[in-house]
Amino acid sequence: MTLATIRIYGGACEIGGNKILVNTKEAKIFLDFGTSFTTKRKFYGGFIKAKRFRMLEEYILTGILPELSGVYREDLLGSLDHLRSDEPSVDACIITHAHLDHCGHTSLLRPDIKFYIGATASILLEVREEIKTLREPEDQIIKVKDYRDERVLKRQIETFSTGKLLKIGNIRATPIHVDHSTPSSYGLILDLDGVRIVYTGDFRLHGPIHKMTEDFIEYASADDVDVLIIEGTRINDPSIHSEENVLASMKDSLEDAQGKAAAAFINLLDFDRLKSLISAAEHVGRKLALSPKLAYVIYHLEKRAANIQVPKLTSEILSVYLEPSSSGGYDLEKDYRGWLRRFIEECQDAGVCLVTPEELARQKGRYIITLCQSEDLPELVSIRPEPGSIFLFSSSEPHNEEQEIEREKVINWLELLGMRPVYAHASGHASQGEVISTIEKISPRTIIPVHTEHPKMFRELLERQGMGSKVIEPSQQHEIIV
Ligand SMILES: [Zn+2]
Repeated sequence: MTLATIRIYGGACEIGGNKILVNTKEAKIFLDFGTSFTTKRKFYGGFIKAKRFRMLEEYILTGILPELSGVYREDLLGSLDHLRSDEPSVDACIITHAHLDHCGHTSLLRPDIKFYIGATASILLEVREEIKTLREPEDQIIKVKDYRDERVLKRQIETFSTGKLLKIGNIRATPIHVDHSTPSSYGLILDLDGVRIVYTGDFRLHGPIHKMTEDFIEYASADDVDVLIIEGTRINDPSIHSEENVLASMKDSLEDAQGKAAAAFINLLDFDRLKSLISAAEHVGRKLALSPKLAYVIYHLEKRAANIQVPKLTSEILSVYLEPSSSGGYDLEKDYRGWLRRFIEECQDAGVCLVTPEELARQKGRYIITLCQSEDLPELVSIRPEPGSIFLFSSSEPHNEEQEIEREKVINWLELLGMRPVYAHASGHASQGEVISTIEKISPRTIIPVHTEHPKMFRELLERQGMGSKVIEPSQQHEIIV
């Protein structure tokens, strides 16, 4: 008897874009609904953009999104009338973490589909949405603007923390925290009338909080697992670089650059990296000058997130880089608007140290200018780094196409400014050995590798280890019967 089916609509033979549909007789849910950057990059980028009213028509034609009825926002469907319906055809989407390759295209789902997400991840999504200057349909995960009547709707979002039981029809889903390169990442354990499906989301065992991934594996393996959907980003990579290695290399290069300018480039949501950078700065007696966007995320987490330790913006080691407006001014009333004006005001009230580029240029050896988006690079022009200055390239793997295209431009800027790039990075994803040991512990009947370009390698590696799990290579076209 068929109890459920699984279909991998995204994340099959590609890194990211996970869209996993679990379908039972009583409920239909998506596990993640990420942007497939691999496919999107083939057709879009630079000047080529989808036209808004038929965005979904274009994305379905190009294969960026699957053709499904009753799932998508109706204001963007163009001529695809056969995909419209009165009721949503899917009950919910459970989002494992805030990276766009797992949640980016939830922005294009109908607003009456309920989302479940980690409590801290929901704050991250909300803040990231607020600081985006151009809010296009794909930026609208939390708030949706219906372009037919300009109404703005807030989505139905239920947040969770580890161990909370989510009941959707006959699906009982339990999220358990895992260690990954952004806070509030979860793996999921699904029970469907006796069938147990485990989905890892993205995870690693070499990070600073690997204990959380160990908790997840222990919980998942407490009962027989029928299907394990596991990420395999690095199934072809046995190397392990830990966050401790990153910290050591940051310290070494900062010691070599005494008295010279130093900048670092980290991901907006990577708090483990931020903590390493703070430790490295303390080691050499520098302060971080945080880009306002990064500082704003910290500010919100400090105020609102219950389960995460964040550095205090008022601490001695932190300051916020006061970016001049396009006219070069710093006047609160005249030069700043929106969230940035409110944030600068709150920083002033709270006694947060604000530092201008002029001060940074005068005291090059005292700060690490901490950027999180390549658009901030020209800010270094005012600082005029000298030869021997360093740039800690410490962002994780690109999570969207802009980041990838812009990486080349970052290198050009560094060459121009005479800054030496220092690569200090540890992956957010499990290595080959970590993936295999996870499978060994969970010991599932069937494995579906996702978020990997090498699903075939799973079978070879498991055979070599004498492990008996059956590997099903995912494809968008095939339904997997459980
Ligand atoms: Zn991720």
